[in-house]
This record gives sequence, C-alpha cells and structure tokens, in this order.
Amino acid sequence: MTALWTPSRRGLLQAALAAGCVPAFLRHADAATEPLFRLGVASGSPRADGVVLWTRLLGDALPAEVAVQWEVAEDEGFKTIVARGTEQAEPGTAHSVHAEPSGLRPDRWYWYRFRALGQESAAGRTRTTPAADARPASLRFSIASCQRWDHGEYAAWSDMAKQDLDLVLFLGDYIYESATAIDGKAPRRHAGGACHTLDDYRARYAQYKSDPRLQAMHAKAPWILIWDDHEVQNDWAGDVSEDLAPDFHQRRIAAAQAYWEHQPFPASMRPKGVDIVLSHRVDWGRLARLITIDDRSWRDQQVCPKPGRAGSNTVNVKDCPDLLNPRRTLLGAPQEQWLRDSWDATRPWNLLAQQTLMTRFNAQDPAKGPGRYWTDGWDGYPFARERLLRDLASRRVPNAVVLGGDVHANYVADLKLDWNDEKAAVLASEFCGTSISSAGREQSQVDKALPFNPHIRYGRSDQRGYMRFELQAGRLDAELRSVQSPWDADSPSFSAARFVVEAGRPGPQPA
Ligand code: FE
Ligand code: CA
Repeated sequence: MTALWTPSRRGLLQAALAAGCVPAFLRHADAATEPLFRLGVASGSPRADGVVLWTRLLGDALPAEVAVQWEVAEDEGFKTIVARGTEQAEPGTAHSVHAEPSGLRPDRWYWYRFRALGQESAAGRTRTTPAADARPASLRFSIASCQRWDHGEYAAWSDMAKQDLDLVLFLGDYIYESATAIDGKAPRRHAGGACHTLDDYRARYAQYKSDPRLQAMHAKAPWILIWDDHEVQNDWAGDVSEDLAPDFHQRRIAAAQAYWEHQPFPASMRPKGVDIVLSHRVDWGRLARLITIDDRSWRDQQVCPKPGRAGSNTVNVKDCPDLLNPRRTLLGAPQEQWLRDSWDATRPWNLLAQQTLMTRFNAQDPAKGPGRYWTDGWDGYPFARERLLRDLASRRVPNAVVLGGDVHANYVADLKLDWNDEKAAVLASEFCGTSISSAGREQSQVDKALPFNPHIRYGRSDQRGYMRFELQAGRLDAELRSVQSPWDADSPSFSAARFVVEAGRPGPQPA
C-alpha cells in the first residue's frame, strides 16, 4: 500500500478521516505526544533489490491501528525518494513495522525513516547486496552475540558504529530471558522477572532496544540475525526446556513471536507456532555465499544432563558413552540436508553463520583420559560435526569460514577431522566471537585447556567486544575488537588481535 508523504499532523488527520479511523485516533490523541519511535529503527535481511525496514511504536495509549508511513531515499538528505509506503501497525504484532521496499538497485546505500501520528523517527542507513553475478571488491562485516543487559554496558556497539561495515551478523542471545538476582550488584538490571509470556518477552526486547548505542548500530547498516538459547530460555533444545517444564511449547511460541516482532525480518519469516525459518542463503555477488542456520529448534536433547534436569553439562566421555552416538543431530536431518545443498563451490568464499563454538574444546589433559566436554555446543554432537566437515571436504568447498558466538570468548581455530593429529588437514577456519557484554569464564580455565587443543590458535574469555572482517577474493582479514571497561558505556575499544585467512590456505594465521 503506498501513500504520499504527509509531514503535517493535519495531513495525517485527513488521511485518518479518509481511512475511517478517526474515533480511535481522537480518543487516543495523547499517543501523539509520547515519543513513539523511542526503540529506534533497524534494517535487515538485505537482498539485491530490497531490504526490510523495522520499527516499533511504543505508547501507553496507542490506537489499535496506526498507519505508519515509510520512505527510502538515495541520499542522507532525503532529496531523492525512491520508495515509500504505509504499513498498519497493530497490537497483534506489538505495533511493530516490517516494511519491505522492493525495486531498489543492487550494491548501494539507502536512507530510510518512518512517520506516524505526526512524529518522525530517526533516519537509518542501509544497503542492498551486490547482484548475484556481480564481482564486488569486498565485503566488510562484523559478528556479534550475547549482549546481556545486566552484565555490562554497550560500548562495543559504539566502537562498531565507527567502522565502515556493509553488514552486521548477530549470532544469538540478543536478549536474556532471566531475572536479575535481587541481591546482585549489577548497575543495570532486567526489569521484571524471567520471561514466560508474550508480554514478558515484548517488554524485555523494549528494554534492550532502549539502549542508544545499540540503536545507533542498527541505524548504521543492515543486520542478519539468528537466535541462540536466551531468546527463549537457557539451553533449550526443541520442545525440551532445561527445567523440563511441561508448558515449554507455549513459551517457545511466545518467544518466537516476540523475536520476529522486534527484528528486521520479512513477513515471510513470521513464525507459525514455534516454527521460524532462520536458515537462509545470502550471496554477496560472486565473492561469497553466506549461510545461516538454527541449531536450537531441531537438535536432540543434550546428553547426560544433571539429575532431574535437561540442558547442558560438562562430562567425561567414559561416564557418558551416549556422547558418541553417531545418530545424534544438532541441526535436525532436514536442515543438515539443506546445509549440504547450500554450500556453493563456485564462489571463492563460503561463510557459515551459526550459534556456537564448532572446534573441539577438550577440558581434560589427554594423558589423563579420553576427554571432557561441554554438551551444549558441537562437542556434544561430535558426529554431527564430523558429518558437516566430511561433506565440506567431499564437495571441495573453497575457503569455508565458520562464524559463531555463545561461549563469551574469542576463539580462532582450525577445523579438521582428526583433532588429535596435528598434521591432519585443515578443512575450514573458525572465528567464534566474544560477547558484547555477557560475562565469560575465568581466563585461567581457558589457559589450562589451550595446550590440550593445539588447533585453537587463540582463546580469550576475558575480552568483551566483537569481531570485524574485511573479505576480498584473495583474503579474509579479521580484527578482534575489545572494550577496555565493560561497565563503562563510553569505554574506549582496542584491537586485541588480528588474523588473516588466505584464499586456498585454510586456517587462520596471525596477521
Ligand atoms: Fe550468551
Ligand atoms: Ca548462548
């Protein structure tokens, strides 16, 4: 539905009259005096000819239906408008807006903004992808994950906003569903208790999205997002919750709905019950194929949980033989097959954006036993990992790079089939980025385990930040950006390490 841009409130009233919704509009006239766009704007799911534009109206007395106008310009001053339209925001989707301009030109930047009830949003900047057959010189992107509100401020987003990025990949834990401990000393606290209902999750997203630094990064570039556990509940696995709650399916439905409502996802991704499709392929011209997957919705339950519970554990192989059951799956059989069909050997780079650490992380000295593993990550599904890596090798996928988060630590690693053979071929490179704010484990624990895992080139759990990348046909440059003071919203950031992957030579090298 398209409409003329009507900047005056009188014009909007006339539009409302024409649409026959005046009574509600007048009854809720106060809504027009609240800052409606205080959750900011966002864009995402970019394609060569379009992108999704997002906002959500917030107000205590919003009319049931609000016409939200949007426009897209070729310039920051909005002189050349190339697309515009109107979306109806309504309570069934939390007055969120998911506008989908089409017919945009490939590989260029655009600016967008919204207007409703006489108010105008901040302007956002976004871009389209290069055409499928184009040969772009580069792709500049970042990976980020785990922004627990009551674990730190968001200085990392401010640092990222200073980088010149085409794309942000958010790899999970956008919100945390838990309550903040009453006796805790956290300077920032979650409002309300643990999220269970749709209203709970909506309020939690509204709290996170109130942060100006997060808003600024959303307004700077398009994002592609996948979820991990905390968008729903810690350590969930399909319909199994860590506390074995019988009503978990209902909680999943609420969490999926709120997730879709609050991110720049297209209407086609709107969840059906618990199902939301997060597995996608995005081509950056001929340079790279980006593949996103969901390792939560269809996984087998974690092996050998603690008594009376589900969820993760850390186990010795000899106490938990089921760890080595080859039939266990992290992605589910249909998604495993979809991933096999998605690798593109004709493009020089394949990027796999997924949730967690893929490389083997053995916490036990190999001289003292067969291994000790955390069961929530790929180490809990070792044969599923082996199937994936064997498939990569047999398809001769050039330069596969696995991107992840979840573990609140920076890990840079080689991916291979035999972890115990230092001479085994490196099949792919892994960059698992640290958390924006969520606390990590003790660095001493990581330092103790690194000698048992020589394929891990770098491991730091004491850094908060993100990873920044520049991809060219011949090389991938990675920079690990870290904030100095996680509790200082204005903390400076620094470059903690740099790596490079050269095309044709799998495995990250120090740069
Ligand atoms: Fe996390
Ligand atoms: Ca997680």
